[in-house]
Amino acid sequence: MDKLLKVIGNSEGACGTCSTSGCGTCGPATPKPEASTGLNRRQFGYTALAASATAILAGCSQEKPAEASAPTPAPALSPELNVVQASKGPIMTTLEEFYKMGPGPSSSHTMGPMRITYDFFQRVSKLPDDQLKRATALKVHLYGSLSATGKGHGTDRASLAGLLGKAPATCPPEFLDSLAANPDEAHKVTIGPSTLNLTLKDIIFDATKGDFHHPNTMTAKLLAGDETLYELEYYSVGGGFIEWKGYKPPDKGQPKYPYEHAKELKKYLIDDKIPLGKLLLANEMAISGKSEKDIWEFLDQVSEVMLRGVNTGLTVDSVLPGPIKLHSKAAAMQRNLKTSSKGEVGKAVTRIASYGFAMGEENARGHIIVTAPTAGSAGIIPAIVKSLHDLNAPNEKIREGFLAAAAIGYLCKHNATLSGAEGGCQAEVGVGSSMGAAMAAQTMGASPKVVSNAAESALEHHLGMTCDPVAGYVQVPCIERCAYGAVKAWTAYCIASEEVPEERRVDLDTTISAMALTAKEMNVKYKETSEGGLAVSVVLC
Ligand code: SF4
Repeated sequence: MDKLLKVIGNSEGACGTCSTSGCGTCGPATPKPEASTGLNRRQFGYTALAASATAILAGCSQEKPAEASAPTPAPALSPELNVVQASKGPIMTTLEEFYKMGPGPSSSHTMGPMRITYDFFQRVSKLPDDQLKRATALKVHLYGSLSATGKGHGTDRASLAGLLGKAPATCPPEFLDSLAANPDEAHKVTIGPSTLNLTLKDIIFDATKGDFHHPNTMTAKLLAGDETLYELEYYSVGGGFIEWKGYKPPDKGQPKYPYEHAKELKKYLIDDKIPLGKLLLANEMAISGKSEKDIWEFLDQVSEVMLRGVNTGLTVDSVLPGPIKLHSKAAAMQRNLKTSSKGEVGKAVTRIASYGFAMGEENARGHIIVTAPTAGSAGIIPAIVKSLHDLNAPNEKIREGFLAAAAIGYLCKHNATLSGAEGGCQAEVGVGSSMGAAMAAQTMGASPKVVSNAAESALEHHLGMTCDPVAGYVQVPCIERCAYGAVKAWTAYCIASEEVPEERRVDLDTTISAMALTAKEMNVKYKETSEGGLAVSVVLC
């Protein structure tokens, strides 16, 4: 595969390699701020940061150039950047928080609500029998953004499925489809001694405006006639994460190998020679308190859900839900491969792209996906997993690949953002592609430096990518972008594994910082608002 997709990188003469002040190619040299110009400390800090940022963006430096093998220092970031303010202390994210399984197309409006109602189902199932005997109904009220945009995201059917006791990770796609196809059909759910009939009408689209604790608020109730037996207010806080009234984050242990940036991680890997898989597994066990067996079982389930999604997507032709009337492509691409005359390279690219399409289309259908890092970018890692299976990669190596991919996602979450609403699509598909490059490299047995370089390369070439979904649906450009993200992930791995690793000019921390900076400065029209770019250019008939 790497031979088929080999790309020869040539950075000679490129802007990032210039060594003169004010080279003219990149723009004028940026003056260094002076500490003695009458600015107070804060003003000085801002001026220094602005100058630093300008120099970074221009690709120029007034400093003596570093040796080719020296790491590029990470640029300082604006202290106003929310994603930076939130990044304190070592990375504490766990695999279960990161790879979340549930229905697409939206982690906050579909997956989160199903996780909420499934949580509610489990809570009420534990109530005493004498209370449950009186139960007559289960109701869910959607508020704020969930009510305003929930219809298009399938919030109601996902909420009903959870309330019916269907686990988000394993709910069959046919069941979710049947809820949408037969909206008036009653479904039985047994809770203790009571069996209740539920329909989509039990999911109520309530007030869109009000003084809500969170924009995505919902309440779930167990009723006995007009009497409320049990009620809980929930919040779908983004990325599939859920909270509820009185929520307290779970206690966590301290990581065995604390790190906040790639440079600290690399120190353990390169200087201390600790294998990446071993390090990340030790951290996961220390932070989550889970056993090695539990962690491998979880990753195997993630892998299974991803492969099931790709394999389903490769066999289904359909018009995807919503006003765009977008036709799926994955199945046709697979069929046409059999008679393709594109040669090995063309077939390899088509195959990987079709895998990205397959899971992206499953997400658009509202079927079960895994956030990696988000629902919109959920096609990329499954495409890498499927192509690694094509290469007969051993399962143990694929598990390690999942750990490496998660580490890249954690670094981006901690030091920049994973949200299209905060950073545009570079934060979703860009990070997904970067994770995919790391996963491919780690699974194929690359060195830590190559894994890091592959992740850097993939992220670098998504910087500035905007989020402008047409009609607010996670379809255009999202699905095709997953296909490109997967192809770019393989390209990044191929480049990183063929170049001299020490000669890569830009390091991962620098590119993650650049993403945070770009996120900060990106116009709000390009942050999932559907107010710019493709969203206003594509005409729907
Ligand atoms: S365009 Fe926006 S919604 Fe679509 S994948 Fe990218 S960030 Fe997500």
